[in-house]
Amino acid sequence: MERQGVQTKGEAKQRGRIVILGGGPAGLGAAWRLHEAGCADWVLFERESHVGGLASSYVDDHGFTWDLGGHVVFSHYDYFDGVLDSVLQGQWVEHVRQAWIWMRGRFIPYPLQNNIRHLPTQELMECLEGLLDARDRAEAPAATFADWILRSFGPGLARVFMTPYNRKVWAADPAELGTQWVGDRVATVDLKRVLRNVIEGRDDLGWGPNATFRFPLHGGTGRIWRAVAERLPAERLCLGVEAVEIDAQARTVRLSDGRVVSFDRLVTTMPLDGLLRRTSNLGSQISDLALRDGLRCSCTHIVGVGLEGLVPESLAGKCWVYFPEPELPFYRVTVFSNYSAHNVANPGRQWSLMAEVSEARGAAGVSRDSVVRGTLDGLRAAGLIPSHAAVTSVWHRRIEHGYPTPVVGRDVVLDEIEGLLSERHILSRGRFGAWKYEVGNMDHSFMQGVEAVDRILLGRPETTVRFPDRVNSRPR
Ligand SMILES: Cc1cc2nc3c(=O)[nH]c(=O)nc-3n(C[C@H](O)[C@H](O)[C@H](O)COP(=O)(O)OP(=O)(O)OC[C@H]3O[C@@H](n4cnc5c(N)ncnc54)[C@H](O)[C@@H]3O)c2cc1C
Repeated sequence: MERQGVQTKGEAKQRGRIVILGGGPAGLGAAWRLHEAGCADWVLFERESHVGGLASSYVDDHGFTWDLGGHVVFSHYDYFDGVLDSVLQGQWVEHVRQAWIWMRGRFIPYPLQNNIRHLPTQELMECLEGLLDARDRAEAPAATFADWILRSFGPGLARVFMTPYNRKVWAADPAELGTQWVGDRVATVDLKRVLRNVIEGRDDLGWGPNATFRFPLHGGTGRIWRAVAERLPAERLCLGVEAVEIDAQARTVRLSDGRVVSFDRLVTTMPLDGLLRRTSNLGSQISDLALRDGLRCSCTHIVGVGLEGLVPESLAGKCWVYFPEPELPFYRVTVFSNYSAHNVANPGRQWSLMAEVSEARGAAGVSRDSVVRGTLDGLRAAGLIPSHAAVTSVWHRRIEHGYPTPVVGRDVVLDEIEGLLSERHILSRGRFGAWKYEVGNMDHSFMQGVEAVDRILLGRPETTVRFPDRVNSRPR
């Protein structure tokens, strides 16, 4: 999305002190724009001792680098691309996506509907018949994601892949999800293409907005955000300081170091449920029931496995693999050493896998040990870790806020909250600040921060958070 860049310097009006909460991509987007516009009075507080948020990277005791889940950079915005180009100047690895699905004991190219010829014959027929039935129903609007799956794909692909896979990713039933988020996040069906691929025996991998992507050569995804922060005035980035309490009427934030700072405008990127719990004097109360029903999310476990030797032939060139079958705990595994040779301590002599496992928040019986054990067993059972492979390192993180679940009824609750907060000059933005999965990637989150500042300084209407479809439907 084109913006006027530094031209804002002249037109921007400082609106008093602007406080930013959170130093992930959204908070850094806001900071970047304020700095670019030459604003004098802003400050950012980040709870952790580093920037990056969910897009951070970590080096384990054995020298393996890990992201919090397989992050790839693809973008809907020229402005975002420009910032990334400027901070990591050429320090990128460019990739053509190779996404696969592991099911029925074999690798199948993603998306499945374009590659159903790889399924056992009976399931291939079931999927084809379902697709033909679905063609007649495609126009009817769908009330839930489960309906949308049926109408778009038919019962065959729904049973074989779409329903079990989505149940795993979301740790929720597709019947509980709405359809407002689907946009460019789910590959739809081109029936002629499907039939041509079956008849001509052709593999078809090219779908979607991330058909090509890039990844930092060194330091994982987190390197991007450290590089962004390095270009901002260090004295305005306060790390290791948590916002403990916000008084919406007095316009103050109490911090974990005991200070109380006042704001004229607050751009907060911490998860919205936590923000509401910490905010007093909002003027009206959002009921606990509305919050519980509207603001749902899943937790994500990341299990990194560092191995000795060369990446096996079967995984060479593969970026990530989806796992729809319920017997295996992970929904996706990234061959992380394929993203950059420097994601391992000894490039060329080691390789790495990174698995993602969803947990319904509050689910009983899920522990670090059970997730790690289940993941290692599953990787071996699926053949991703060959029997002779030596495992050097196992790394685990549990992310409390992993995926913002787009439940039916979400937007009613979000609109009510947005009204209350913006009346008090508080903009809650970013993946869990706005709680909108459809605009919850790094590019979206960064630009939500940028656009929030443009709204404050220039009165420009925000696009990303208000009109996700407009942003996501832009041709790239
Ligand atoms: C498993 C997984 C895979 C992903 N894959 C991709 C991908 O391939 N491509 C992509 O573009 N995006 C991907 N994402 C999304 C990406 O991580 C997010 O878009 C991005 O990190 C969101 O940025 P944010 O600033 O909105 O939020 P966050 O990154 O969550 O940052 C919020 C920050 O606020 C801080 N904070 C919280 N509470 C407080 C407080 N009280 N006081 C001060 N600070 C506080 C946190 O410590 C954090 O640093 C993925 C996410 C996950 C979970």
